[in-house]
Amino acid sequence: MKASVWLGENKFEIREINIPKLNDEQVLVKVERVGLCGTDVHITQGLFPSTPPKILGHEFSGIIVDVGSNVPKEKIGKRVACNTTSSCGTCINCLNWQISRCLNAEKSTGAFAEFSIMHYSCAVEIPKEMSFEIAAMTEPASCCLSGTEMIDYNNKPKVLILGSGIMGIFCQLFVLKKNIDFLVISEPNKARRDFAKSLGANFVLDPFSQDYNEEINEITENAGFDILIEAVGNPKLLAEGISRLRPRGQALMIGVHPERSNLMSDLYDFHYKELKLLGSFGRGNYFDKTPEKINQFNLEKLVTKIYKLEEINEAIESTYEGGGMKYMIAPNKG
Ligand SMILES: [Zn+2]
Ligand SMILES: [Zn+2]
Repeated sequence: MKASVWLGENKFEIREINIPKLNDEQVLVKVERVGLCGTDVHITQGLFPSTPPKILGHEFSGIIVDVGSNVPKEKIGKRVACNTTSSCGTCINCLNWQISRCLNAEKSTGAFAEFSIMHYSCAVEIPKEMSFEIAAMTEPASCCLSGTEMIDYNNKPKVLILGSGIMGIFCQLFVLKKNIDFLVISEPNKARRDFAKSLGANFVLDPFSQDYNEEINEITENAGFDILIEAVGNPKLLAEGISRLRPRGQALMIGVHPERSNLMSDLYDFHYKELKLLGSFGRGNYFDKTPEKINQFNLEKLVTKIYKLEEINEAIESTYEGGGMKYMIAPNKG
């Protein structure tokens, strides 16, 4: 099969490699669409630990084309969203907590290739009418679903989301399904603000506008927010958002903050206002439920461009520049 092998920094090479033999519990998936993620960009910049040579790509969808001897043959031909790790169902994390933190997890092979091999439980069937593009967004969407489900939505909360990249947008869509008072989006990029507005945000604000604070005070009637979602990964922004919370406010960290960064917040505020800070990482127990959930949203326009496998550098560059929403690769095209 053809695979794009990452060789360190921003070097990729298309190589012809053998498809590994399936073990009894695995399936072979022909990769249809694979999304570029901020993590892929960070890996090529040395900001996220990973060791080359390696096939990257972890947000993907495809078709099951072969199965191991313990997997029912009927699975062949099924259209699936692919999870990056399996879960055993018997370890302490699987039993008590989050299956995405399974202690015996097996990883799917990288998806910047024509095929990927994974434990059969990682290949989750998608609704019939769902496109492979939307299905490839199951992984990032499930992280947002898991995070937003950590929040308590009692008493019609007022919600602020900082950042309208793909994670902010998914958080927005899930939060709008809750019984909230209103949702404010803060995002400097105009195209992204318009996008958030078109997907139902009640107010969209430019944080660099002179009237920003005034607008927030007007919208909240000087009361502040009950819920803050930080979807950027900027410690300063998180601290600023926290300062806008009302008593008993909740702050959710969806953005990935740099390692060893600190939160410069007033701890007296945390004590006095009884604030809650919620870290959020990964898919929790939500991956399998996500395809059906996101299929209700009109997400086709989230996909900005689809590249060939050979064009991976352009795809990474576009993702880094952040002009669009989601860039993908179709490894079996071209
Ligand atoms: Zn990702
Ligand atoms: Zn487990």
